[in-house]
Amino acid sequence: MITSYISHSECMLHDMGPWHPESPHRISSINQQLERSGLFQELMHYNARAVTEEQVYRVHPQAHVRSLELSQPDEGETLVQIDDDTLIGPKTMHAATLAAGAVVRGTEQILKNQADNVFCAVRPPGHHAERVESMGFCFLNNVAIGVEHARQNFGIKRVAIVDFDVHHGNGTVDIFKNDPDVLVCSSFQHPFYPWRFADSEWDNIINTPLNSGCNSLEFRKKVEDSWLPALQIHRPEMIFISAGFDAHKDDPMGEVNLTEEDFYWVTKLIMDVAGTYCNNRVVSVLEGGYDLSSLAHSAHKHIEALKGL
Ligand SMILES: [Zn+2]
Repeated sequence: MITSYISHSECMLHDMGPWHPESPHRISSINQQLERSGLFQELMHYNARAVTEEQVYRVHPQAHVRSLELSQPDEGETLVQIDDDTLIGPKTMHAATLAAGAVVRGTEQILKNQADNVFCAVRPPGHHAERVESMGFCFLNNVAIGVEHARQNFGIKRVAIVDFDVHHGNGTVDIFKNDPDVLVCSSFQHPFYPWRFADSEWDNIINTPLNSGCNSLEFRKKVEDSWLPALQIHRPEMIFISAGFDAHKDDPMGEVNLTEEDFYWVTKLIMDVAGTYCNNRVVSVLEGGYDLSSLAHSAHKHIEALKGL
């Protein structure tokens, strides 16, 4: 597989403080692990380009984005709090436009046949960002912006979004909950943050709740039983992954006990579906993962699977 790796050093300029787990070091720890293992050189590397306003406004209303921009402090001023643990700083929206722009660029590479699949090593993450509410370390919904780009610029009709972050992708559900062309499959610890949208009230939303303490075997069985039939019926033309690695057993936030091998396994499962229905088209986007070592090793296994190794 030709795997494209899209990132940008300026995604690291968004900094919510030295105590904050969603830190710039998350990106550098993944890069270092890929370099150590030699996998870095086997990927095609691209810089993210900033998303355009038009691309963002397909998902988030202009007034909401304006209010985020207006709340940004100037350089040297105190960070502004959006929710209990989400802070906006002078470079936050710049990093957010690069994170969303990476997904747009990755989407184009796939649909122009310039790569088989893509991993976007970006932050801030996106899956908690609802249409008109930023929360849970997320400002713009990166994956949703990519999905709309595929649909509106390339005529893709049926899309699947697969989200294995330990937290439920409430933002993605909010954006696509009444859209039968977008299937959202999400596994998450339950009951747990974000405490909303965890009931499957919509036919296109496949919620796969996991108990605290859930292990590899339970995770794999639940994913196979709930996601595969839905994906087979949906027959997606393209698949996006919200790749959060905070369901790892060493992660300080979640209480789910997955290992790197489970992220490899679930990636292979998604790639099998992509191979069957959509010519391997997969765009994967970093979401959570807060223990730097397990994040780096899990992302490494995920990318190894994307590469077909
Ligand atoms: Zn998470």
